Amino acid sequence: MTESGHLVLVVNSGSSSMKYQLVDPAAGTAVASGLIERVGSADGSARHTDGDRTAEFAGAISDHGVALRIMQDLFAQAGRPLDTVDLLGIGHRVVNGGSRYGEPTLVDSHVLAVIRELSPLAPLHNPANATGIEQAQLAFPGVPQVAVFDTAFFRDLPAAAATYAIDRAVAADYRIRRYGAHGTSHQYVSQQVTALLGAQASARQIVLHLGNGASASAIRDGHAVETSMGLTPLEGLVMGTRSGDIDPAVVFHLTRVAGMGIDAIDELLNRRSGMRGLTGFNDLRDVHQAAANGDAQAALALEVYCHRIRKYVGAYMAVLGGVDAITFTAGVGENDAVTRATALGGLEGLGIVLDAERNAVRSREARVISADGSPVTVLVVPTNEELAIARATVALLT
Ligand code: ADP
Repeated sequence: MTESGHLVLVVNSGSSSMKYQLVDPAAGTAVASGLIERVGSADGSARHTDGDRTAEFAGAISDHGVALRIMQDLFAQAGRPLDTVDLLGIGHRVVNGGSRYGEPTLVDSHVLAVIRELSPLAPLHNPANATGIEQAQLAFPGVPQVAVFDTAFFRDLPAAAATYAIDRAVAADYRIRRYGAHGTSHQYVSQQVTALLGAQASARQIVLHLGNGASASAIRDGHAVETSMGLTPLEGLVMGTRSGDIDPAVVFHLTRVAGMGIDAIDELLNRRSGMRGLTGFNDLRDVHQAAANGDAQAALALEVYCHRIRKYVGAYMAVLGGVDAITFTAGVGENDAVTRATALGGLEGLGIVLDAERNAVRSREARVISADGSPVTVLVVPTNEELAIARATVALLT
């Protein structure tokens, strides 16, 4: 079975996982997708879906090269061997492109070396991204590999937003600035909003990407002018396991008073903070459940989470001089009506009027959830980073 038309394989390599999708960029659909987990361990697992066919794997997955071979096996088992697919290219999510890379880039050995060199800026992500690309080059010789950078949309942030107020020379020597992250999602979602509302009614946008990681951005006429993630994806909103904004002096305090080492603090702020740190749960569904069962800490955690969002919305309205559209996306943003209502409730004075019924609707479609006549349009728009990466890959290769 040979596909008609070009398909793009999108690969998102994490430190211990690999997500992939075979995308039909013209139709805007995923033909097949899968998730490979616990790469690097003896008890790895993988699950693959292709229409109504599924395939699974359980066993040792020593590294990303093995993960890619398992992916190829799963495609074959589900009746679509990849060597029968008309593959235009492979698009890879790369978290940090530094100041070097904005546009999607065809990967050669130099580009790969730079992605590795930028690892200190995204220690959890860039090394895995680079390994995934390298292994895909070996597994699919002759297929072009394209890197799409999560920082790209924020590369041209105004200097006032990108610059930390620290010693200029130190910042320059160590490339310390605000890079942002989730850029592919913020760009895709804001473009969807413009397609829905038109350019004028969406000139000043705030996008709230609330998933396991969470970030906010302010966008004027299609260009990002502020975003909540910084040097790394630790800054900004409260997240599943990350603290978001915190006084840097907390780090000195924990070092001097608690005697904690720097790696332990890194782990604390990145993996044991946010909703997990406050409640023991990183999934907001569990936090809601606990709050409903009378857990006061869980209720407080939800308040902290929503308060932070409100603070950013207010700040970004000031940055933009008002706002035309506010959009929720990603796992929490798309599914959690209570969080949306709490985060933006009581802001009628700022022109933000939610419609409770519209907000309560569950749907996979992009939709408006503000009331008719609300000066600010509030929307829910499902993100689709894979489709955005696939389309960027096509744009570069054709
Ligand atoms: P990632 O950042 O890993 O890509 P997603 O965007 O898929 O994450 O979001 C995952 C998160 O979405 C989960 O951890 C969970 O907190 C949240 N989530 C998913 N569905 C719901 C729901 N119905 N209500 C509240 N939160 C939800």
